[in-house]
Amino acid sequence: MCGILGYSGDRQASGILLNGLAKLEYRGYDSAGLAVLEDGEIKIVKNKGRLQALEEKIKSGYDVSGTCGIGHTRWATHGEPSEVNAHPLWSDDMSVVAVHNGIVENYREIKNKLAEHGYKFYSQTDTEAAVKLIDFFYKQEKNPLKAIIKAIKNIEGSFCFVLLFKDFPNEVWGVRKDLPLIAGQGKGESFLASDVSAILQDTRQVYYLDNMEIVQLKKGVVRFFDMEGYAKPKELSEVTWDMNAAEKGGFEHFMMKEIHEQARAVKDTFGSVYHSGKINLEEMNLSDEKIKNISQIYIIACGSAYHAGAVAQYVIEDLAKIPVRIELASEFRYRNMPLDKNALAIIISQSGETADTLAAMRRAKENGIKTLAIVNVVGSTIAREADSVFYTMAGPEIAVATTKAYSAQLIACYILAVQFAKVRGELEGSEYERLIGEIQKLPEKIDEILDEKERIEEIAYKFTNARNAFYLGRNIDYAVAMEGSLKMKEISYLHSEAIAAGEMKHGPISLIEKGMLVAGIMTQKNLYQKIASNMLEARSRGGFLFIVATRGCEALKEEADFIYNIPETDEHFAASLAVIPLQLMGYYVAVARKLDVDKPRNLAKSVTVE
Ligand code: GLU
Repeated sequence: MCGILGYSGDRQASGILLNGLAKLEYRGYDSAGLAVLEDGEIKIVKNKGRLQALEEKIKSGYDVSGTCGIGHTRWATHGEPSEVNAHPLWSDDMSVVAVHNGIVENYREIKNKLAEHGYKFYSQTDTEAAVKLIDFFYKQEKNPLKAIIKAIKNIEGSFCFVLLFKDFPNEVWGVRKDLPLIAGQGKGESFLASDVSAILQDTRQVYYLDNMEIVQLKKGVVRFFDMEGYAKPKELSEVTWDMNAAEKGGFEHFMMKEIHEQARAVKDTFGSVYHSGKINLEEMNLSDEKIKNISQIYIIACGSAYHAGAVAQYVIEDLAKIPVRIELASEFRYRNMPLDKNALAIIISQSGETADTLAAMRRAKENGIKTLAIVNVVGSTIAREADSVFYTMAGPEIAVATTKAYSAQLIACYILAVQFAKVRGELEGSEYERLIGEIQKLPEKIDEILDEKERIEEIAYKFTNARNAFYLGRNIDYAVAMEGSLKMKEISYLHSEAIAAGEMKHGPISLIEKGMLVAGIMTQKNLYQKIASNMLEARSRGGFLFIVATRGCEALKEEADFIYNIPETDEHFAASLAVIPLQLMGYYVAVARKLDVDKPRNLAKSVTVE
């Protein structure tokens, strides 16, 4: 999910790769490495940590001479950040050496199959399974293209591979599915990269690869092939963006890029535990026996992770019928609340370093409570100290205001809810299948919502000078309102409050003034009329009604000032869709106010102090 590079030409590859990787540093990474092919030999150098350490290693005498090579910055998804797990990874006789971004979902199955053919594995990565699968077919075919095609047909997940084959001098191969890869055309040289920022200093002539397309570089020649092995013509494009825009994939801000990455984050998080038609939580140490014995769940988190937990509370209680308490980590850690020994504490943190969350988790552990962390960063402190970990597969998030990590946290929570419900006998087989099917359809629906984002952009400008906003909802919609309201205040600095709609009359309604933004979330059919009444009370005091409602909801059709309809889904999972227009609203108001969207004042990405 981080950076990937390939080079074939006449210049020394290592310098070009190091420069290119430095341009990809903004994407976040935990280790780096490169491999260079010369005279039928592939030399590899890699390490945990910064790119600078890699550069120093090379300067201090590592021989990486050669004019054809591949480079990588890793953001660990499988296996802790370490030198062994860093890329490139190789086949045992070094015939095939590869770097990989993304996830090989079926790596366990591949490993088991290869083990029957005598393959052994030295790393904890999913990547090594893929490299050795390519090697397996390469040994039969003696042809890189055929080997890649055969292997890719057997690999599930989202990925981007860039490869060297020892016996094919000057050649670099690449293939992608759902993750970006571009090819650059220079004079007598060619490049592969995750994004144009890495090669912009060398060329502006690029090809954009389609999914499941294979590319071959050989010095200045770039060729493309389809999955049948036929050569494909492809059009060269000229990059007109500057460096700044290139880093953001053409979006104005990282936040918008990440909003658009949500469908993939959701898909990858689901795919990481769903194999051959089944959810598998065994790796998280959650045997059926353990799940059956859970008497209480505490969800402990801060900020947006707490809001994801608030959604989870409704979903888990309703589906799995386990009582759930949602706790702010900063409160939980100092409260003397009697804790249930048979409880499970679910700890949610994007960075895995959130100080309050970590302290709260330690407190739960001291009290003999089992902890399960939902974390985005492999090897982070919370991930290491928790009894078990559910990794979200959002990839590195650069914008301070979270979007894709929050969405991935929701999916992890749904999976736990559905699986707990099944194991505890609360769900019939067919209902379980239906719910799984609904989760699988979310990515497509998220993208569908984003197709109409300009509608929000138009309305957002109205609130450039607004001073206050309310976000109203009930049940899951209240949990979404909390996240929507936080998105608004953290990046646009517009004072905003989320209110459980029934509480309006108990005070907040006195604040409503003419033209005030009052957002209402309506995804729970049985509550449509209830929330509609609360919204009408706001309207009669001058509120501007901004409604996010599931398609088919007729309430407020006449009275609302603005309605954004979202696709239908099972109501338990509606937060994943309803939050998207709210993220966009926060974003566009901040843009209209000309604020620093990605780095809002006073905020840090990872809150490592109390
Ligand atoms: N899944 C691979 C790993 O954990 C690749 C991660 C990446 O995209 O950097 O090594």
